[in-house]
Amino acid sequence: MELFFQLRKTMALFFASAMVFSVQQQIEANSQQSPVNFEFKGGKIIEINLVDPTFDGHDEAVTFKISGHHGHRSLKVVSKNVPALTVENEEYELKQFHFHAPAEHKFDDVEHALEVHFVHEKEIEPGAQYPKRAVVGLLFKVGAHNEAIQEVIDLANAGEDAEHKLVPANILFSSDSRALRYLGSLTTPPYTQGVSWVVFRGIAQISQEQLNELKRLDLSHTSRPAQPLTDSAVVADSYLDK
Ligand SMILES: [Zn+2]
Repeated sequence: MELFFQLRKTMALFFASAMVFSVQQQIEANSQQSPVNFEFKGGKIIEINLVDPTFDGHDEAVTFKISGHHGHRSLKVVSKNVPALTVENEEYELKQFHFHAPAEHKFDDVEHALEVHFVHEKEIEPGAQYPKRAVVGLLFKVGAHNEAIQEVIDLANAGEDAEHKLVPANILFSSDSRALRYLGSLTTPPYTQGVSWVVFRGIAQISQEQLNELKRLDLSHTSRPAQPLTDSAVVADSYLDK
């Protein structure tokens, strides 16, 4: 994937140098901002076979605790066993997960009710200002009761100091496990770029009561509007094993 990004970037730079672009256009051409609207109908999805990301330990019980302040509350990993995600030979560790209502990523302009983000990070490299991140996203629509989400609600209802064991895979792999991948950014300030995104194509379900509870418990963040998906951002299809 890295090679592919490089190739795309080189091509973009070639075209940029061949034409007279304004500075603003060049910034936009090189921006990798999230979230994005995945346009299946517009033909902007590049379907290629890549090495699938691998999930290691997401199917085991992990201890979480509520962390953060109003509007930015998340469920932070506090156990010693930390699930690892490998994307393009880079291994990231699960740090926390949180929700956005409504969902941030869109499929063909369709807005969904909720999105969960599982944030993985690498150890910060010497001299770097921030760690490299990989975020796994899953969208939800209002429908059936979701047992895995109910465990999250129960944890939050138990209070700030409570620790709770949850199995991340029960939340993440509740639907179609094919995924879309692109290089983007954090969707909250400072919108740091270089985030490796893995967004599941399948839409999970959550009941209206559960959606209301997540909002009441201050577990859902606000949502950033979709950002332009530029030519330098590559979207690919992948088929993940459960
Ligand atoms: Zn998020």
